[in-house]
Amino acid sequence: MDGIIAPKADTATGCHGGRETMQEAARAAGKSEMMDRLAADYPRGPHDQPQSMCPAFGSLRVGLRMRRTATILSGSACCVYGLTFTSHFYGAKRTVGYVPFNSESLVRGQLYEDIRNAVHEIAKPEDYDAVVVINLCVPTASGVPLDLLPKVIDGVRIIGIDVPGFGVPTHAEAKDVLAGAMLKTARLEAEAGPVARPRQQSDLPTVALLGELFPADPMGVGAMLAPMGLGVAPQSPAREWRDLYAALDCEVVGAVHPFYTASIREFQAAGRPIVGSGPVGEEATADWLDAIGRAAGIGQSKIDLAKARALAPIQAALAANPIDATITVSGYEGSELLVARLLIELGARVPYVGTACPRTPWSEADRQWLEAHGAHVQYRASLEQDMAAMKDVRPDLALGTTPLVQAGKELGIPSIYFTNMVSARPLFGLPGIGAMAQIVATQTRGADRFSRMVSFFDGVGHGDTAGYGTQGVPDARPEARARYRKLREAKAKAAANQSMGS
Ligand code: SF4
Repeated sequence: MDGIIAPKADTATGCHGGRETMQEAARAAGKSEMMDRLAADYPRGPHDQPQSMCPAFGSLRVGLRMRRTATILSGSACCVYGLTFTSHFYGAKRTVGYVPFNSESLVRGQLYEDIRNAVHEIAKPEDYDAVVVINLCVPTASGVPLDLLPKVIDGVRIIGIDVPGFGVPTHAEAKDVLAGAMLKTARLEAEAGPVARPRQQSDLPTVALLGELFPADPMGVGAMLAPMGLGVAPQSPAREWRDLYAALDCEVVGAVHPFYTASIREFQAAGRPIVGSGPVGEEATADWLDAIGRAAGIGQSKIDLAKARALAPIQAALAANPIDATITVSGYEGSELLVARLLIELGARVPYVGTACPRTPWSEADRQWLEAHGAHVQYRASLEQDMAAMKDVRPDLALGTTPLVQAGKELGIPSIYFTNMVSARPLFGLPGIGAMAQIVATQTRGADRFSRMVSFFDGVGHGDTAGYGTQGVPDARPEARARYRKLREAKAKAAANQSMGS
């Protein structure tokens, strides 16, 4: 098929390796427009690329969480193995489709034909509303043209997206790639004529929340909005196709996770105003209710009523749950700035907030607030930056990614995984205050355990004493290391002499 080229052999370095070569290959294979779009939506820098899991996991997860949606991966078997493993680790309980390929089927264009056949086979309206096909790194670099797939088969939408690791920096933003593509299709359908009625639709004008939230959070936000006569729309990413229409039908969008650039573009195309930040703690909640009320055209007296009802118990809860601790915050969920705001309002000292997500207008108010309260905010934070901050600050508690938590524990610093511990608890309103105070109290109370652990493991687990399979503490073998160093040096010297002689 025209436009299909195989990536050069030196791109086999896999994740995050050979990115420029892969990008060149994708552009040469006709994907320039898509690469430009990704670069504009998900800007890089200041450093090279954050170190999160395969970005495509974000899109895969969004597809797998939707009812009546089939998800098919097109990519190298090793990538697909890792992605399916991770999806089942997170309890997907859904089949992940896979269209395998080899060098020949890729170069000859047979892979595209195989994908098209698979899509036709699976797109049964009695089973599915939509079929999602995700191009991973190699098929994207090779120009497999998912945009040529039929848009609809027997009423089943076909959503083909490119989610290469060399174009989408984090798995958080990959959620937006699919959420945005689905919103676009749903918006065009709604503009073209009548669409299916959402299963649950509020009688009130609604606020659509952007981001994967703790399940109880939208209900809590709904209670805060009620005095303004507003309800909550089904959130995006959606759980069912028809919910996309209800989300698009909102009065205003709350971009509580600020990196959903493609989704925001679709809401804006539907004429919906966007409000950044989110209702955490006291000040952000007051500002957010003001901004949402104004954007929805609500009168000031109703906005004031909503604020009065929400803020009094929040003030009481903040006063009743003080935190006296220094905490560093880092993660790749997109809610890091909101978490840091809440911690500071609870009394914590937060000198550093790192997020793998990019800077966007929708977190600007949070950035300014945090910096005014003494925090350094690092967008597109690298693991090295997060580690350096933790080592420099030596906090009472570090919230972070898996490798950061591991490093923190080795240093005897209480550390917890942002995604599994913080994102798995409420964040907004009263429940958010209680949950955050409890997390910090539990973890900092156990601080001595970490020092005991460090002294217990002192001398093992590093360098020559790493590994397992011995009965006792592994012996350090410095003489073996010295012997092999001498051998290597002698070999290098001999090679140098030989090349000088030839
Ligand atoms: S698809 Fe994901 S796992 Fe595979 S090479 Fe790309 S970034 Fe890595």
